[in-house]
Amino acid sequence: MTASPAAPSSGADLAALLGERRAKGRTIGFVPTMGALHDGHLSLIARAAEENDDVVVSVFVNPAQFGPGEDFEKYPRDFERDRRLAGDAGATILFHPGADEIYPAGHRTYIEVEGLSDVLCGEKRKGHFRGVATVVWKLLTLVDPRAAYFGAKDAQQLVVIRAMVRDLCGPWKIVAVPTVREADGLALSSRNAYLSPEERRAAPALFGALTAARRAAEEGERAANRLVKIMEGVLAAAGPTVVCEYACCVDLSTLGPVKEATGDLILAVAANVGGARLIDNICLRIGEKVEEILP
Ligand code: AMP
Repeated sequence: MTASPAAPSSGADLAALLGERRAKGRTIGFVPTMGALHDGHLSLIARAAEENDDVVVSVFVNPAQFGPGEDFEKYPRDFERDRRLAGDAGATILFHPGADEIYPAGHRTYIEVEGLSDVLCGEKRKGHFRGVATVVWKLLTLVDPRAAYFGAKDAQQLVVIRAMVRDLCGPWKIVAVPTVREADGLALSSRNAYLSPEERRAAPALFGALTAARRAAEEGERAANRLVKIMEGVLAAAGPTVVCEYACCVDLSTLGPVKEATGDLILAVAANVGGARLIDNICLRIGEKVEEILP
């Protein structure tokens, strides 16, 4: 049995706990989450536990990253289950602030990572990455870890956070961890819980689209628009349950579209599958060979 992680809900209690650990010379790793933990989150926690003496996991469903009509209210929440799973994976502290702690009355300061926040997922989800960047900066400041761990599943989020930390001189190391998938390729996501059995059967089309484009690149295709067409074709072939929002091939550092598929790229898709908006991506380094890389 693993000890249940300490579970402060205020910044002051968190600071007191971290002060004790730092005084003993312990290093701190940090994994920010919105809870409803699954094996993807647990792989981040396990990696952080391998590389640090203490692991802080935050569970905060961040209102600022949800738009009107999105799933903020219905987002799954189960604190006791999260606490048990996080502890078993190696978390020593579970920080679960209330919204007032993160956004005190009169809050008016936000972080906008220009140029990277309004493309791909940011085009439809206006303000989403402003909400993500703002909460991640606040949490990094409160936890002040040696390193923070993020999933490659959300590649755009990683690109935005790396740019923010670099631009604002944050001292923290940002670590990308590979996407954890179901056996049929579907990337684990808290939102998979929204899928009906029929939608669940259709959902692996997202990873199918990415692997088809990757295969074409491995066979020598270098026209980005043809890779995009391949992804769109696989999503369309999944039938009306899968409604493509975007399929794209973009530069890994600028997130801008490319004509020729060479260098470090993200192949990314977003689709509505029933009531769930799902995203997936793979990052490739395309030279003479095609190799998968982390964002
Ligand atoms: P969330 O709770 O959705 O905000 O995710 C918290 C962290 O877990 C983010 O860094 C995500 O990228 C990461 N994550 C979510 N799903 C997966 C997955 N299937 N594999 C790896 N990391 C993931």
